[in-house]
Amino acid sequence: MKMSRISPQSLYILDDDQHYATLLEQMAEKCGWQVISEQSALRFLEFDLPSSMVLVLDLVMPELDGIEVIRELIKRRINLTLILISGVDKRTLHSAQLLAQAYSINVTACFSKPVRLKEFCEILNTIREVQVSSKGAEEDPVFSKEDLKVGIEKQQFTIYYQPQICLKTNMLIGVEALVRWHHPKHGLVHPGYFISMAEKEGLISLLTNQVVSMVAQDNAMLNTIFGKDIMISINISANDIISLSLPDQLNHLLSEYSIDPKNITFEITESAVMTNLVSFLDVLNRLSLKGFSLSIDDFGTGFSSLSLLYQAPFSELKIDQSFVGRMLHDAEAMIIVEVCILLAKKMGMKIVAEGIEDEKTLSALKSLGCDVGQGYFIGKPMPIKDIDIWKNQRSTDL
Ligand code: C2E
Ligand code: MG
Ligand code: MG
Repeated sequence: MKMSRISPQSLYILDDDQHYATLLEQMAEKCGWQVISEQSALRFLEFDLPSSMVLVLDLVMPELDGIEVIRELIKRRINLTLILISGVDKRTLHSAQLLAQAYSINVTACFSKPVRLKEFCEILNTIREVQVSSKGAEEDPVFSKEDLKVGIEKQQFTIYYQPQICLKTNMLIGVEALVRWHHPKHGLVHPGYFISMAEKEGLISLLTNQVVSMVAQDNAMLNTIFGKDIMISINISANDIISLSLPDQLNHLLSEYSIDPKNITFEITESAVMTNLVSFLDVLNRLSLKGFSLSIDDFGTGFSSLSLLYQAPFSELKIDQSFVGRMLHDAEAMIIVEVCILLAKKMGMKIVAEGIEDEKTLSALKSLGCDVGQGYFIGKPMPIKDIDIWKNQRSTDL
C-alpha cells in the first residue's frame, strides 16, 4: 500500500509484534498523535516517507532489523526523531542508541519491553512540545571559506572564558579559553559552526594564532581579577600540530607578554586527520619541554585513544562531557568516569571533568576523587568583562 505524505505531527510505529504495535498505537492516539503503524519493515520502506519524521522503532524484526532500517532512512536523508523499543538485552539497546546518535539521529528514548506506557506518553508529549517550540526557530548558520577568511582578516573573533575549580577546595584554579565569532549578521557564533571548516580549509593555524594572541593580551587582566597567576587552557587543533614550527611560534606569541609556559595548558583532541604520528609526537614533546602542560581533551570519545595517552607527554586528562552528563543516570557512563579517574591517578595525571550541569554530579565527582571541575553549574563560558561579576557572586555563594 502506498501512503500519501502526512504532516510531521504524525507518528510512525514499526514493530513486527502486532500486540505491541496496537498497544502503542492506542496510547499515542490518546496523546493526540496521528499514527501510521506497520509491522513489516520492507513494506514500511515502500511508503512515500516525509523528509522529517518521528518513528517508534522495534530493533528486532524478521526481515530487516532496526539498524538496517535506520541506515536506509539516513540514506534517504530523512530527519529522524527516534524512540527505540526492544526485547533485546539492555546493553544491546544502549549500544544501538549510541550508534543512532553517531549517525546524528536524535534518539529521544529507549524502552525495553514491556514498555511503561505512562513514560511512553510523557516522551511523546515532550517531542510535541519541542516540535511546537522549534517551529519558526532560526536555521543554523552555514559559512563559506570566504566568510571565514574575512572573519579572520577583520578579527571578528573573541574569547569566552569558562572557570575551572579545584574539587577539593572549591577554589578557582584556571579558565578554559573558548573562541566565539562575533558575526556581523549571525551574532555570536559558537565554534561548532566553524572550527572543523577552518581545519578543512587550511585556515585553522591563522585562527589559532589569533586565539593565542587574544589570550596573551587578556592574561594580565585575568591574573589581576583573581589576585594570582591562574592556569589558562587553550584548545589547539590536531591540524595545527602538523607544523613542526608550532612550539616556537606559540612560545614566541606568549613570551611577548611575558607569560610563563607553566601557566598555559594546551588541550588537544585527537583527530581522524592525524596522519603523521611522528611529527605529531615531535611537536607535543617540544611543547612539553618548553614547559607547557598538555591535556587530552574529550577523552573517551572516538578519537582520543589510549595509545595516544601512552605515547604523548600529557599531564592532564579531560573526561568527555557526554560521560559526565550521563553518569548519574547511566551505569555504563558512570563506570567510564570511574575508570578514567583511576587511569589518570595511576598515570600521575591531573583529571578534569567537563560538562558538570548540576550539584549532584559535582558532588559525585568530588567523592570519586576527581581533581578539577568545569561546567555550567560552576560557571558558563563568559566574556572577560563578566568574570569579575562571576567571581564576586561565587564568593558570596560559598
Ligand atoms: P571543548 O574544548 O571540549 O570545550 C567544552 C565545550 O563544552 C565548550 O563548548 C563549552 O561551552 C561546553 N560546555 C562547558 N560546560 C558545559 C556544560 O556544563 N554543559 C554543556 N552542555 N556544555 C558545556 P564550545 O565553546 O561550543 O566549544 C566546542 C568545542 O570547540 C570545544 O570543545 C573545542 O573542541 C572547540 N574549540 C573551542 N574554542 C576553540 C579554539 O580556540 N580552537 C580550537 N581549535 N577549538 C576550539
Ligand atoms: Mg577543550
Ligand atoms: Mg571537551
